[in-house]
Amino acid sequence: MTDTTVTLTGTGTPLPVPGRAGPGTLVRRGDWAAQVDAGRGTVLRLAELGLGCPDIGLLALTHHHSDHLVGVADLVLTRWVQGGFDPLPVLAPEGPTARFARRLLDGWADDIEIRRRHTGRPAPQGPDVLAFDPPAAPAVVWRSADAEVSAVSVRHEPVEPAVAYRFDTPSGAVVVSGDTRVCAEVEALARGADVLVHEACRGAAVRERGKRFIADYHADTVELGAMAERAGVGTLVLTHLEPAPRTDEDAAAFASEVRRGGYTGRLLVGEDRLTVPAGEPAVQHG
Ligand SMILES: [Zn+2]
Ligand SMILES: [Zn+2]
Repeated sequence: MTDTTVTLTGTGTPLPVPGRAGPGTLVRRGDWAAQVDAGRGTVLRLAELGLGCPDIGLLALTHHHSDHLVGVADLVLTRWVQGGFDPLPVLAPEGPTARFARRLLDGWADDIEIRRRHTGRPAPQGPDVLAFDPPAAPAVVWRSADAEVSAVSVRHEPVEPAVAYRFDTPSGAVVVSGDTRVCAEVEALARGADVLVHEACRGAAVRERGKRFIADYHADTVELGAMAERAGVGTLVLTHLEPAPRTDEDAAAFASEVRRGGYTGRLLVGEDRLTVPAGEPAVQHG
């Protein structure tokens, strides 16, 4: 029985859609938990999963786009309010994302000072920013007894850098794409992974709606199906769904386009709080 799972804390995009929090993915191995990105509503999704912010042992950020970052200050400040006084390790590619993380609490200095004096609790130490140069080929950027984390640069131009992450634990391998077009870099990172959580954009549908600029830097569903098949991933989980599905038919359209691309493994169209054990049949929670 594996003790490695991946949970979608948010499957949305910048546009608010009922039931879909901002982008975020939770990777757990036993009691250890890592959050990848923290979009709007992430802290609420964690609470619904029975987790407090101090339960997060690592935050990994993919790129500097607000939909992936607006929940980060909430996560760090709420962690402090919930009694997490040690600095949260934050992985970030060097550049705008790392700068954002270093300045995260600047706007909250007065609030922090008043709470600190009022409650007598120690001041938060701010995030422990672990910046790395975004690697052109998959490279290890962090390791512990629970997981080895690798990163690779992805293709989300003009937003640079942007990275994907892979978590190799003793009981499974999980890859989270962040935002990217379908690219060889994620294919290399995802090779043989148990679970690939990948952003998905129905390119033809988005272009029909006059939103070519969105399709230009996101992952086309048909191309994604072909890539995931080549990479040989056991389960493909679609997230960051564009356009957001509002009906079962909308969700089925994502799946059928990925199948048209050639993917034959287990395929799940993401919903918030979907939890997938690495290497075992998928389980829906909540
Ligand atoms: Zn995004
Ligand atoms: Zn983005």
